[in-house]
Amino acid sequence: MKLRTFLKKFYKNKNLLISVSALLVVSLIAITYASAAFSSGSFNFTPTTSDSIDQTSEGTETIDTTSLASQDVINTESTESSAIPAVAIVSSQESIVPPLEQFPDGSKVCYLTFDDGPSSVSTPQILEVLSRYNAKATFFVVGTGKLEYLKTIADQGHTIGLHTDSHVYANIYSSYEAYIADLEAISNKVYDHTGIRSTIIRFPGGSSNISSLYKGKCPGLMTRLTVDVEANGYRYFDWSVSTGDADQKLAPPETIMENVKKFSNNKSQICVLMHDTNAKSTTVEALPAVIEYLASQGFEFRALTMDSPVFHHEKLNN
Ligand SMILES: [Zn+2]
Repeated sequence: MKLRTFLKKFYKNKNLLISVSALLVVSLIAITYASAAFSSGSFNFTPTTSDSIDQTSEGTETIDTTSLASQDVINTESTESSAIPAVAIVSSQESIVPPLEQFPDGSKVCYLTFDDGPSSVSTPQILEVLSRYNAKATFFVVGTGKLEYLKTIADQGHTIGLHTDSHVYANIYSSYEAYIADLEAISNKVYDHTGIRSTIIRFPGGSSNISSLYKGKCPGLMTRLTVDVEANGYRYFDWSVSTGDADQKLAPPETIMENVKKFSNNKSQICVLMHDTNAKSTTVEALPAVIEYLASQGFEFRALTMDSPVFHHEKLNN
């Protein structure tokens, strides 16, 4: 073959040759990187677990736990789980508190919440501490509480949330209608004392409670309620940090502090569960240290609003 003929043929197939060469180079690079990554162990085939809300201490609002020992509840749950209706996971993505790195502006917000008040001794003390640190909080109140304090709480810029009128699990969770009636009762009491029609809810025991099943004996109730209350203009809030102040009769302030440190670690938006009853004196005792610690971690303290981040337990149990 004459050189000229060869060059002519080469020129005709030039584009094809370039494409094949490019493909070979890309393949070589890919193979090189893949083998390097594999040998260094940087390939991770384990599914990434999300930054789930810690639920280890939840569902322990122990105001109404006399009829079943906690051990009984756990055993019943594990042995009869097959009889429980399919568990729905509501808003599981929304319920996850985003990890710190997802807030590049570094903003850290703490929503302190106080359940089961107002109370004659603790409420004024809690308000005094909050005022001292210029911290805003949310009080999830009960109908049997010291209702004359409601106006003071609201006037100081805190949010009044609806917890329950009676806080008797066997009654409020006995049926859908019973829960709604209880909710309306506490709503009206709050309105009568403050002129505020609150739409912020915390279910007794949280949305993941099992009391609605074992005390209210109403299968599927939380699955229905969590959807329906939101569809009717309410927002319900669980918590992401349990202080454990209801896990025992009187939790030592050190225990409360340890729980706050443990469960707030590496989170940028937290909702802290505490209790406002006269019996929970150590909660008030621990409060200044809790606020100072969280402030030192960069948290600011806000009251919950309808626009606050969603704090939902990841999994419903009924
Ligand atoms: Zn409660």
